[in-house]
Amino acid sequence: MEQAVFESVRYSAVCHNCGAELECWGTQALTYNGLEWDVESACSACGSAVAACGGDIPTERREQMLSEHGPARLEVSSPPTQSVAIMRVLRTELGVDLAGAKVLVRRVLNGGYSGTLPEMERLARKLRASGISAVATRP
Ligand SMILES: [Zn+2]
Repeated sequence: MEQAVFESVRYSAVCHNCGAELECWGTQALTYNGLEWDVESACSACGSAVAACGGDIPTERREQMLSEHGPARLEVSSPPTQSVAIMRVLRTELGVDLAGAKVLVRRVLNGGYSGTLPEMERLARKLRASGISAVATRP
């Protein structure tokens, strides 16, 4: 069983209950279910606390995560002969078409494919499950 990988960002929003500033803590996690986005928030004024789970990470939070923690890179050390197998994983996991997968596989093999750590770790695990030697790294 591989370990869960997660990364969090803190941000503020407006409390639905009283309109005061709400402190939120968003976490992107890679669990056995795949990628999950959870938000916990607590209002310092009225004490209202909310926890929300599921759904995709909002673009704004993803950008915040990348700028605060830095992007992680997907490193594949397989020979180019495995690029078809890599493309198959990318198509399944990212839902891209053949043309998109061809562009992506080049980026992956050049070490130019990056994202959040949980996202890269998820792909690295899927690639390893297909016999491709891959790791998620952060410079
Ligand atoms: Zn409140």
